[in-house]
Amino acid sequence: MSAADNPTSHSTGTPRTRLAPSPTGALHLGNARSFIINWALAHRHGWSILLRIEDLDGPRLKPGTDLQAIDLLHWLGIDWDEGPLYQTHDLSPYAAALEKLGRAGLTYACTCTRSDIEQAASAPHGDEHELRYPGTCRVSGVGYRVSGRSIRPETRYPKPATRSACIRVIAPDEAIDFTDTLHGPQQINVQQQVGDFIVATKAGLPAYQLAVVVDDARQGISEVVRGDDLLSSTARQVLLYRYLDLQPRPRYTHLPLVLGSDGKRLAKRHGDTRLLTYRQRGAPAERVIGLLAYWSGITSHRQPMDAGEFAAGFDLKRLPREPVTFTREDDAWLLNA
Ligand code: GLU
Repeated sequence: MSAADNPTSHSTGTPRTRLAPSPTGALHLGNARSFIINWALAHRHGWSILLRIEDLDGPRLKPGTDLQAIDLLHWLGIDWDEGPLYQTHDLSPYAAALEKLGRAGLTYACTCTRSDIEQAASAPHGDEHELRYPGTCRVSGVGYRVSGRSIRPETRYPKPATRSACIRVIAPDEAIDFTDTLHGPQQINVQQQVGDFIVATKAGLPAYQLAVVVDDARQGISEVVRGDDLLSSTARQVLLYRYLDLQPRPRYTHLPLVLGSDGKRLAKRHGDTRLLTYRQRGAPAERVIGLLAYWSGITSHRQPMDAGEFAAGFDLKRLPREPVTFTREDDAWLLNA
């Protein structure tokens, strides 16, 4: 049996995964595919499943979409053993982690705006969402009081919202190693990729990279299964595991994305591919799962099935390694048009 076939061999204790929707109202076919694959792997390998609602993503949150996501998962036949746990219900674990990073001299306050960073960035950009931060506030000393040889962060989380500063953690200029179940060994230099990155936002909330590491560690997550748009973030998360002295690290499995016909990640511009919309337009869950199964190497043509049949037929080895393209035929099939 290969390592890919037996992901539970990675850690001791009860293997555990999480479903981690962001309540932004945007649960679409690509998310659904990642969730059902995660769920199927859990069933196949006996992992327990936690539902975590990632509700720290300030401006993108839409009230009520947490319950909508839960309802849609139920509709698909996806269940879990524990949760929903909401990140905003208790911010103290994130504050403690930030405090620890601060005490180690690894963080600093940053007052740069996006346009400051764009102007300063002669260096190549990071990923599509994030510019590489050139370290302006670290170098200028805005973020530091320097006492003797020890560098101390000036601002600690939680901080007054009136101070318009985020907190960044220092990224070393070296490759971070990790292995992904599907993508194999990875070496990513976070400093070259995105620079020192944000761990607390200007609004005074924990940033995604910090929150996800704190949660995965304290919730005993041994298996992280998600879309491969987050593959490059994983190096930042591995670095935070190291800085915070957390272990064991989860095993990471990053799944190929679902793309629109223009080759870009499935999004609003491809029309309304939200699950909720298909459901409201009369698409049965069995057709949605049938399409996800066809996209996941389970069947060679689209045929309706339920979540249990998906789990019984799913094999990570047969999952296409290339992104899947959502077509007009897929849309027509979902609606039985
Ligand atoms: N909440 C994130 C999303 O919906 C997932 C983050 C993760 O799995 O680490 O995209």
